Amino acid sequence: MTWSRAHLEQVAQGTQGTVLWDEPMSRHTSLRVGGPADLYLEPADIDDLQRVLEQLRSAGIPCLVIGGGYNLLVRDGGIRGCVVSLKGLDTLEPLPGARLDVGAGVTNQALTRFAAQQCLGGIEFLSAIPGSFGGALAMNAGAHGGETMQRVELLTTLRESGVLVRKRDELQYGYRFLKLEPGEIILGARLRLEPVERRLIEESIQEYIAKRGGQRVGFPNAGSFFKNPAGGSAWRLIDEAGLRGWMIGGAQVSEVHTNFLVNKGGALAADFLALAELIKSRVKETAGIELEEEVRIVGEG
Ligand SMILES: Cc1cc2nc3c(=O)[nH]c(=O)nc-3n(C[C@H](O)[C@H](O)[C@H](O)COP(=O)(O)OP(=O)(O)OC[C@H]3O[C@@H](n4cnc5c(N)ncnc54)[C@H](O)[C@@H]3O)c2cc1C
Repeated sequence: MTWSRAHLEQVAQGTQGTVLWDEPMSRHTSLRVGGPADLYLEPADIDDLQRVLEQLRSAGIPCLVIGGGYNLLVRDGGIRGCVVSLKGLDTLEPLPGARLDVGAGVTNQALTRFAAQQCLGGIEFLSAIPGSFGGALAMNAGAHGGETMQRVELLTTLRESGVLVRKRDELQYGYRFLKLEPGEIILGARLRLEPVERRLIEESIQEYIAKRGGQRVGFPNAGSFFKNPAGGSAWRLIDEAGLRGWMIGGAQVSEVHTNFLVNKGGALAADFLALAELIKSRVKETAGIELEEEVRIVGEG
């Protein structure tokens, strides 16, 4: 089925949340690049989201769900169809047995603050990772030895067939990876944490944040651009390929951390894509290793 602007208008009219037309995705990504989304929506809550998704599906309109846009490179042609942000799914509910139900739209920082207030430890590492909890689950984000999926008891997702709740051992996940069906959306998860004294949790949050100080690169970025290959470090391979500080257009290999590509001002997505290709081919030549992007690349060229 082919869809038209009139179909998008019907979807937009029904939603209770934020509606933006031809919205530059550079406003919603930490790299600050990316062309416009035909329609950008932030549904107000889960009911609003479900209705929006149902309308998009029945009109055959493509839909991209995003969190904070901290791991996203949107091409310069932008996104045809609808971008849906889950910011409205921001519920946090403590449960007996050191457990928390967390909505996909909760920020990692709000989650770790709330867990500390509840004297629940085990996810402090997330305080150092920008983005939404849904994005952290989708990427199985991790730092300092911790990974988001380690603490998941139940994952709730939405597929065309309806809501699905699965235990962690029913899921396939790994380093920066969680297997989802195409179009499957994470609504939230139940975390199992550990009772810990609040002071200790807050100290470890401060330590994680302090450790990040040395990584501050000073320009818009998306964190590590490439995954670390088995047994190695992407930053080291890029450095050894002689690319520290290398620039294409407004995109640069950071002088501070060579696995961070930064927007020095006025960069296009095409600059980042060209720089990423250059890095991959140089690292292949010098080390014989094929780097794989950690950043998700979406949209039209
Ligand atoms: C300065 C900096 C430091 C960083 N450090 C780290 C780090 O230490 N460790 C780390 O792992 N990452 C790190 N990152 C990358 C980024 O913060 C994480 O990948 C984060 O989890 C992305 O979350 P997000 O909400 O921004 O997701 P987005 O960038 O919005 O989305 C990422 C992907 O997940 C999908 N997605 C998002 N939400 C959902 C959902 N609800 N359902 C289905 N799919 C969804 C999107 O479609 C997209 O494919 C860093 C980034 C920056 C800018």
